[in-house]
Amino acid sequence: MTARRGALSMTDEEKSVEQLIKELAEMRRQIAELKSAEEHLMYMSVHDALTGLPNRMLFNDRLHMELAHAERNHQMLAVMFLDLDRFKLVNDTLGHAMGDRLLKRVADRLKSCVRKSDTVARMGGDEFCFLLPEIAQPEDAVKIAKKILKALKKPWRLGGQEFYITPSIGIAVYPNDGQDADTLMKNADTAMYRAKEQGNNYQLYTAEMSDQNMERLTSEIALRRALERQEFVIHYQPQINTETGQIIGMEALVRWEHPERGTVFPAEFIPYAEETGLIVPIGEWVLRTACAQNKAWQDAGFPPLRVTVNLSARQFQQKDLVETVDRILKETGLDPRWLELEITETVAMQDVEHTISTLRELRDLGVRIAIDDFGTGYSSFNYLKYFPNHTLKIDKSFVRDVTEGREDAAITKAIIALAQNLNLKVIAEGVETEEQLAFLKRQQCNEIQGYLFSRPLPAEEFTRMLEKKIALKDR
Ligand code: C2E
Ligand code: MG
Ligand code: MG
Repeated sequence: MTARRGALSMTDEEKSVEQLIKELAEMRRQIAELKSAEEHLMYMSVHDALTGLPNRMLFNDRLHMELAHAERNHQMLAVMFLDLDRFKLVNDTLGHAMGDRLLKRVADRLKSCVRKSDTVARMGGDEFCFLLPEIAQPEDAVKIAKKILKALKKPWRLGGQEFYITPSIGIAVYPNDGQDADTLMKNADTAMYRAKEQGNNYQLYTAEMSDQNMERLTSEIALRRALERQEFVIHYQPQINTETGQIIGMEALVRWEHPERGTVFPAEFIPYAEETGLIVPIGEWVLRTACAQNKAWQDAGFPPLRVTVNLSARQFQQKDLVETVDRILKETGLDPRWLELEITETVAMQDVEHTISTLRELRDLGVRIAIDDFGTGYSSFNYLKYFPNHTLKIDKSFVRDVTEGREDAAITKAIIALAQNLNLKVIAEGVETEEQLAFLKRQQCNEIQGYLFSRPLPAEEFTRMLEKKIALKDR
């Protein structure tokens, strides 16, 4: 009995020990699993999923570490920015899947060009960054840049096609070109854009790039970059019919959501964009986005509204303007009658012949035309009757003082009368007060736009306003 009990209890003990061991093993396995999952997550959070290269976060981390090291040991290090020229074209013509395959292979070739102690990271899109610690002189970085160029020069075969890609590389060296990570990155980036502009392939940063006369270029760089990184957004300002109180349309107004400076208003960057010609692609983006958004609102079941888009002088001079507008309307599926294009009075008067013929072609497409900031330029009223426009927009500088300044009231009255005589619609912008509204209503100006009703709003907020069916009486 005793022996049996003993044997039994041994077995129990054995069993429980065995059980314990099993449980421990299971626990250990689970911990290991968790650990590896955690490690995997950690790895994923600092690596680029497509190429497996370190991402921006890891790159910045290493850069800070290496900078501290370089400072302690009085060494040099280089940061190189690399951007593939015309990569967008590959994506557009071969598709994103092919684009991704190409990026992976580019990443492999890039890795093979550097030492183990160097870092190659993918910063996003077709941008790569190199961290080269412990270089003896800037020329060492140049050597690596040349090696990279050579490696990428060999033709690429993808999907049965052979093609070439060229990169642009910008180099900044610590401590000469910057003492901290941000400055080095910014200067390498500036050098890279310089390389791109001059078709140089690679470029060492030089102090003169930051000189006064380079400010324009940096703005151009910044603007171009903003376009690529999709930092522009459109805010929509409602336009109201004062008789019905309902929203009848909206003006698309561009803003730049600058990663450091926050919202930048058009007055600050449109002049640069105009000067550099970048207004053309920016304006095209605005037009496409505004048309697509308007179509989306219609598709969502809201009553159709007209969207008004500003055209700059440079855009208005483009030979292919009419084609571009036509193409964008087709691409977005927006019925032309829901698009209104605005040119300022000053632009309209620059070359009257051109204005008349271009406006005619645009009208023939079925879009509406408005003359913006009317009253501020030097229009000959005589020409106005030849302009095939639909709307006059009274500039906000007149509206501001209609209730105080007698002259502004008189001008505003005159513009409204002129519009009525020419059978044009008239809209007052910059309406901020009830008094201004009352004055305009008395003059039978029955369309307004201004802070009284609403400031320009991001698309989502505008949607909410449409959902709530907010009208003038609610304000
Ligand atoms: P704009 O076309 O005359 O646009 C009206 C401006 O008046 C907008 O300024 C708008 O925010 C502002 N505004 C509206 N209601 C009121 C109000 O009640 N009071 C006051 N004080 N201001 C009001 P914003 O958005 O800063 O745009 C300034 C100018 O920049 C525009 O004047 C237009 O000429 C230009 N712009 C804006 N977006 C674009 C664009 O996409 N392309 C081009 N080429 N130019 C644009
Ligand atoms: Mg406007
Ligand atoms: Mg205006």
